[in-house]
Amino acid sequence: MEKTYGWAGKVLHVDLTNGKIEKIPTSDYKPEEFIGGVGLNAKIFWELGCPEVGAYEPDNPLIISAGPLTGIYGPFGRAEVGSISPQCYPEELFTYSGFGGMFPAEMKYAGYDSIFITGKAEKPVYLSIIDDEVKVKDARNLWGMDTFETQEKLMTDELGSSNLVIGPAGENLSRMAVILNETECAAGQGGFGAVMGSKNLKAISAKGTGGINIADPNSLMELIKVIVEENKKSHFATLSRPPIFASQELKDIFADRYYKKQYGCYGCPQQCHSIHEIKGIGRGSVSCANSFWWTISTKPEDIWEANILSQKLGINSYETIAGIPNILTQSYARGILKSEDVRDDLGLPVPPWLGGTDSDHDFLTALLGKISDGEKPYSEGLARFFEYFEDKLEYGNELMDVYKELSNAHGYHTHFMNNLAGELHKAVDTRDPYNSCHDYLNMPVLVNPLVHDEVMEHFGLPVFEQYKITDISKTDYQKAETMTVWVQDNQSLKNSLPVCEFFSLPFHFYNSPEMDLRVFESRMLSAVTGLSIDTSSLETAGERITNLLRSIMVKRENRARESDTLNEVYFKKAIYQIGPIDKEKFEQLKDRFYQLRGWAVETGQPTRAKLEELGLKDVADELANINRLG
Ligand code: SF4
Repeated sequence: MEKTYGWAGKVLHVDLTNGKIEKIPTSDYKPEEFIGGVGLNAKIFWELGCPEVGAYEPDNPLIISAGPLTGIYGPFGRAEVGSISPQCYPEELFTYSGFGGMFPAEMKYAGYDSIFITGKAEKPVYLSIIDDEVKVKDARNLWGMDTFETQEKLMTDELGSSNLVIGPAGENLSRMAVILNETECAAGQGGFGAVMGSKNLKAISAKGTGGINIADPNSLMELIKVIVEENKKSHFATLSRPPIFASQELKDIFADRYYKKQYGCYGCPQQCHSIHEIKGIGRGSVSCANSFWWTISTKPEDIWEANILSQKLGINSYETIAGIPNILTQSYARGILKSEDVRDDLGLPVPPWLGGTDSDHDFLTALLGKISDGEKPYSEGLARFFEYFEDKLEYGNELMDVYKELSNAHGYHTHFMNNLAGELHKAVDTRDPYNSCHDYLNMPVLVNPLVHDEVMEHFGLPVFEQYKITDISKTDYQKAETMTVWVQDNQSLKNSLPVCEFFSLPFHFYNSPEMDLRVFESRMLSAVTGLSIDTSSLETAGERITNLLRSIMVKRENRARESDTLNEVYFKKAIYQIGPIDKEKFEQLKDRFYQLRGWAVETGQPTRAKLEELGLKDVADELANINRLG
């Protein structure tokens, strides 16, 4: 096989139905155009024909791609999962979820840029990868184990391996199930743990003894010095230790009594996960999303048990904690839900914050247990949980309305973007585009005085002029569509190279244009791969990936303009700091967005001109074949 730089060179395909294993050259998927991560996932899914099957059908491919920078020192130790998602609502859509830990680097060192699994095994199995040796092995002894036990066992059986596993939630096809590496490095959104469970695939174990060929080691060493310097400036790791959303009192308790050390993804200097241990409960970690557990109780032991339990059972912490308790609390506060309803109608213990006398511990463990056991409707994800009660309870409609306020679109709990550009992004995506929410938080709409002037000028904004984000007419003026397009392509790129969200922010907004993130990324990619990549070709790659993702939506899901919307309530009342959004103005904003994207304004479908400009003629031809070209 031809020597490759940056990319490992092979894509591994395993069909669990017939046990067939094939190794395909990565070059077949044009990595120089689609890079890796979400880009490579999209390309593989497109080449598979965008199967029109349900999430749990054997023909739904589970695709995992690292990127050309994965495995190199820096915030690059990540990969992306792409698959048809059981969590998306009302339809199951092809979507994405990123994760870090040790596994992404290990799969690269074993020689694979991507692994994609199709089919379904007859009995529980795991995939064992040791460099070139790939085997499907019996996992009946692992089935039923939690994620920690599974990893411990596999680290013994497959010495030196890193393991991507599911817990009971995935086995029981909970739409809230994650795929986990280490203690909390999870592909959290999407319910992809259940896709693994539906294939009877308990784990993917990888051990690599190879390395990554670097085209220009001297330039890479210079860039690594930049990473080291940037890391000294960034205080994200300190912010997240102890738990970021905890009260000061709880932060102090956890810091003084339970904190052990930091850890994080392979090669990353941030090491933003904090390990804590409470004797008798156990050891685990916390970083961003799972620190929401600290908002629900004042009792350290109850919080810690819920946090670790969700990791062991393989449950999506963010959707669980920011979702169900949050919606129940709001419904209780508005008088929609009474204390006794929680027990009598919803079948859950009633904690003090819902007017009951049961402990937080009992409420949280009962909820997690039901989600993990696959007990419907608890395991069905937020949208389907509240939909289930809609016609069964007198107040079911009102509960569903509260849910819709807290979940803008596609069945995901909102990730606080709270400005018009972010709302448009949610409307046109397939999930909560979470790792863009930080971009919007740092965007000029918030008029952060630390944002460098050139970023403001890029969006045509007067430097440091104060706007209020509640003022929709001002955000029109602020070219919301320009921001959405920029953030979408930025997201496509950082999820493909990959560059971790938590590390990338300071580069974009607080550094000088000479070391803006895109400049840094293009130099990194050039040094690692030996290709001549400038900022403009990188931006084109981001746009290409966004267009391919859109084409997948159009081909597989018949995505059209009318589906690019938010839950209706967002047009009717003010929610968080935004709205009510003027529907007419939102439609005008969509017009401008499609125009800027080069998509047909009437349908939202990509046009031949745009696709061909991006080198996607085959995609244009296919959309034309099915009469869905804009
Ligand atoms: S900043 Fe944290 S999540 Fe991101 S790569 Fe580093 S350790 Fe992983």
